[in-house]
Formats: sequence, structure tokens, C-alpha cells
Amino acid sequence: MRLALFGAEGKVGAALLPVLERAGHTVRPIELGDEPDVRGLDAAVDFTTPDAAPANARAALEQGVACVVGTTGWDPQPLHELAVASGLQLFVAPNFSIGAVLMMRFAKEAAQFFPRAEVIELHSEQKKDAPSGTARMTADLIGGDPVIHSVRLPGLVAHQEVIFGGEGQLLTIRHDTTARESFAEGVLLALAKLRSLPPGLTVGLESLL
Ligand code: NAP
Repeated sequence: MRLALFGAEGKVGAALLPVLERAGHTVRPIELGDEPDVRGLDAAVDFTTPDAAPANARAALEQGVACVVGTTGWDPQPLHELAVASGLQLFVAPNFSIGAVLMMRFAKEAAQFFPRAEVIELHSEQKKDAPSGTARMTADLIGGDPVIHSVRLPGLVAHQEVIFGGEGQLLTIRHDTTARESFAEGVLLALAKLRSLPPGLTVGLESLL
């Protein structure tokens, strides 16, 4: 596919770009200050900031280009109508790592058997939003409004623990992202399935698995 990559010089973008190219895609990198010109491309991918992603996704949809967005900390719902009206897909996932999606699936199952849970999410100190999109999605899946603890420290990439407490027992479900390449597999999957999704907003990698 011919792709635009918003945020190509960011931490995720820099890891993603060579993986996309190795998979046979051609990539137009778009950084802060560049014109968001994506006309004629097959899809746009966005890993930028919560402030930039809504405008980037809107610009892509207005130019007739479907979008895959990994940026967290923004609400894509207002773009649903535009995507439907344009007959285009807007796919947004708070976590493109398959292991993290499985962690959420297992947490949802465990929640049926334990009365209480808390979520600890740990990310690099540069991460702009807290709690993380993955932690908020996990909390929604578990239900019961669990407390979320956010840790921001150097040395971390993206990690999450869900701790369930019951009578005389604890269950911990943990996922660790040790390199940002882990997100690339999910982005490639989303690109491969993008055209088969209905026009409008689809949220979460689990909807593709
Ligand atoms: P980052 O290192 O700060 O990279 C963001 C990049 O976007 C920077 O190069 C930034 O440029 C650029 N940028 C800012 N505004 C832009 C605009 N209007 N157009 C184009 N580029 C723009 O952040 P990151 O760690 O790569 O993460 C990016 C986003 O992805 C965050 O929201 C993070 O939470 C999310 N994320 C999602 C997943 C997932 O699986 N869904 C995984 C990891 C991260 P400047 O440096 O010049 O500002």
C-alpha cells in the first residue's frame, strides 16, 4: 500500500517505518510542520500526540484516505460520521501489541471470578497522557471502576499489571512491551484488514483477531 505515516520521527514512528517498508509498503513520512497532504494514498497511519491526531485523521478522511491511528488520549467518536459519509474506515487501537490485547481478554475473563481489581500501568516518562488508553480500556472491560495507577519512569517502554484480589488469593496478569517493534505486527494486521471493515470508526485490535 502507499501510506502516509504521521509522526514518522517519533519513538513509535521510527520503529514502525522500516517494518512497514520491509513488508512492501511505500511510506510518506509526515512530521510536525509538514502539510498533511495524503491525497491519492491508500491509507494514513498516525502515531503523534493527542492534540495532533484528531486534525491528522480529519485531514486524511477529508482527502479520501482511510486511517489507522495508534495515538492515545483523544476521542475519535466525533470523526465517525465523517468517515461513514466518506465511505472510509477509521481504525483506532489503544494498543497494537497482540500480547496486550490477550492480557485484556484474560483480565475480562478473570473479572467474573474476583470481587476486586486494580490496574498498574507503567510507561516511559515522555508519555503525554495518563492513565494510558490500554488501562482505560482494561478498566472498561473489567467493570466496577477499578483504580488505575500510572507510573512514568525512564527505562520503561509500555507495561501493565492487572491484580485481582479475592478471599486468600491474588491473581496477577502482566504484559511487558520491551521494544516498540511489538506494535508493528498489529499495525500490519490493521492495514491488511482495513478495507474489509465497515466505513466509520472501529476501535480495538481485538475486533480484527
Ligand atoms: P513521540 O515519540 O512523542 O512521537 C510523536 C511524534 O509525532 C513526534 O515526532 C512529533 O514531532 C510528531 N508530531 C507531533 N505533532 C504532529 C503533527 N501534527 N503531524 C505529524 N507529526 C506530529 O511519541 P510516541 O512514543 O511515538 O507515541 C506516539 C503516540 O502513540 C502517543 O499517543 C502514544 O501514547 C501512542 N502509542 C500508542 C501505541 C499503541 O499500540 N496504540 C503504542 C505506543 C504509543 P515533535 O517531536 O516535533 O513534536
